[in-house]
Amino acid sequence: MNVTISLPQPADRDYTITIDELPPIRIDAKAVIVTNPKVSGLHLQRLLERIEAKEVYIVVIPDGEAYKTMETIEFILDRLFDHRLDRKSVLVAFGGGVIGDMTGFAASIFQRGIDFIQVPTTLLAQVDASVGGKTGINNRFGKNLVGAFHQPKAVYIDTHWLKTLPKREFAAGVAEIVKMAVMFDADFFCWLETHDLNDEKSLKEAIRRSVELKARVVNEDEKEKGVRAVLNYGHTFAHVIENFSGYGTYLHGEAVSIGMVMANELAIAAGLFSREEAERVRKLLQRYGLPVDYSIDSADRFYEHFFLDKKSHDNTITFIVPESIGRYRMLAGPERELVLSVLKRFEKGNEG
Ligand code: NAD
Repeated sequence: MNVTISLPQPADRDYTITIDELPPIRIDAKAVIVTNPKVSGLHLQRLLERIEAKEVYIVVIPDGEAYKTMETIEFILDRLFDHRLDRKSVLVAFGGGVIGDMTGFAASIFQRGIDFIQVPTTLLAQVDASVGGKTGINNRFGKNLVGAFHQPKAVYIDTHWLKTLPKREFAAGVAEIVKMAVMFDADFFCWLETHDLNDEKSLKEAIRRSVELKARVVNEDEKEKGVRAVLNYGHTFAHVIENFSGYGTYLHGEAVSIGMVMANELAIAAGLFSREEAERVRKLLQRYGLPVDYSIDSADRFYEHFFLDKKSHDNTITFIVPESIGRYRMLAGPERELVLSVLKRFEKGNEG
């Protein structure tokens, strides 16, 4: 199955996302695979069997969000110079979203930009991070604050890699699939309610549908000036949760799961969304073991944190909420009292 991302000019930026067993990848130049010890230990051999290039090098960086830093980018760039890469060389991102974001960023700045290919190995990276060309790193001011839009030359999605993925990481990817369905596609949501993503055939179908939805959004709005912001459904709350709980307590997809439940509560409080539909979303998330409850220490402090997010402009926040399953609404600058009343329901002692 192929999905094409067609981006505005220049036309040679179009690329194909292949959802299938990994085919041979032919690169008429030097190639550098960027990966981490976990993924390379499990799967590198199979990737190497399918890459044909003038020379193939491997750069292994430490595993984890904590290493998604400028220091690691410097390390990657140094290795690229060591191997005498030129402007025709190609990087291959082989891992989850952390590897994809960093490899893409290194590719975007090495000699002012070279090509890169995504071979995502987590479900989250397959349905979300590898598609759309956002690359970057974290710094002490926050997550993904430094980066570039740099589209890959191709994305190869092969569910084979997911066989070794821990259950929690798998579920974190499901959260992003549910997000796409709730925002854009009621039919897809109903389909998810009646299919089990632990089944290989259903999983492939869900990946295809999610990637198609994301491709449509990116085609329309590559640089997040409009509809791409809808992909932040649940994320405004999730970023605060991740911040409060300390990175590492919740996987990003888990925080997004709770964030979607909170956004749904806000939508209900604003008179936009029905309790019945919110329950359907909660049930679907729970089916994959995703967290849907959260206990806030102080609603006021939680509220203040929204404004530290890079996506808050001029002290107003836009919340992305569902109007119904499959239809989004951008709720710009809702009354503080309304948002607080929702947060207070999650405050310690008031939950449930
Ligand atoms: P991750 O890259 O940290 O991977 C999660 C864990 O799974 C890691 O320990 C990794 O080594 C391991 N792993 C990867 N593949 C595996 C496999 N096949 N079997 C066993 N273990 C495997 O996390 P992630 O959830 O893939 O990605 C999260 C990152 O993606 C965040 O940094 C986030 O900011 C970014 N992201 C980017 C975009 C984007 O549009 N660029 C979108 C969403 C998320």
